[in-house]
Amino acid sequence: MNEEPVEVVAVGPHPDDVELGIGGTLAKLSKKGIKTGIIDLTNAEPTPKNVKYRSPDDYDPDYAEQRINEAKEAARILGAERITLDLPNRRLFDTFETRCKLATIFREWRPKVVISMYGKTLMASPDHYQAQQIVEAAIFYSRLTKWDKYFENLPVHRINSLLYFPVRFIDLHPEGYTSFFIDITNEVDLKEKAILVYKSQGFVPSKTTQISHFPSMLLTWNKTLGSRIGVEYAEHLVSPVPLRCDDFGYFMNK
Ligand SMILES: [Zn+2]
Repeated sequence: MNEEPVEVVAVGPHPDDVELGIGGTLAKLSKKGIKTGIIDLTNAEPTPKNVKYRSPDDYDPDYAEQRINEAKEAARILGAERITLDLPNRRLFDTFETRCKLATIFREWRPKVVISMYGKTLMASPDHYQAQQIVEAAIFYSRLTKWDKYFENLPVHRINSLLYFPVRFIDLHPEGYTSFFIDITNEVDLKEKAILVYKSQGFVPSKTTQISHFPSMLLTWNKTLGSRIGVEYAEHLVSPVPLRCDDFGYFMNK
């Protein structure tokens, strides 16, 4: 078991999902000395971007290794721990086994806060929404007593807070959730650097491929979010429960 708990843990189905959503927030937390971690449920292989693939079941171990190395490097830039699980990309489902696998890592890392992707990505990978459901169930499984045998006999761990980072470009105030924005102005460079590590995904500056525009489009979105709270760049999180605020000065001194 990890000696020190990983206090804030973000979970996504594929390496790069967490960086794109809240890379700046994780970098900001680790700058403050808070121990952060990323869990990828799959290594995102196979992918259509590998030109060698001819069938849906092709699996290129070299490419998979490249993706794992990219993920490690991105985590290093953000100052986060990272684990990439071996659940199947594109065939990711919220099942008893997937819940147990994630809850086992929760029991090992013992986070106070878990941050999940939120929402469906219609017309894109269904893994994202499955991942959200797996996270929600694994948080519950992590605290279940008398079930240790399903979690490598690791003891129960209760997670205090669940937060979400909504998928890109959706409603800023999803009904039933409390939105808040994190100022990432001083961390946006680290976020961009972490995203550009993913050369396998075409996240390289280029004028010739469409996907290469994606990181700059995303940072433009972070800029739009920033403008809503009077800073240069921000990221969007939501809480499923109301937030307590004891410091009225926040409203008076804006
Ligand atoms: Zn993804």
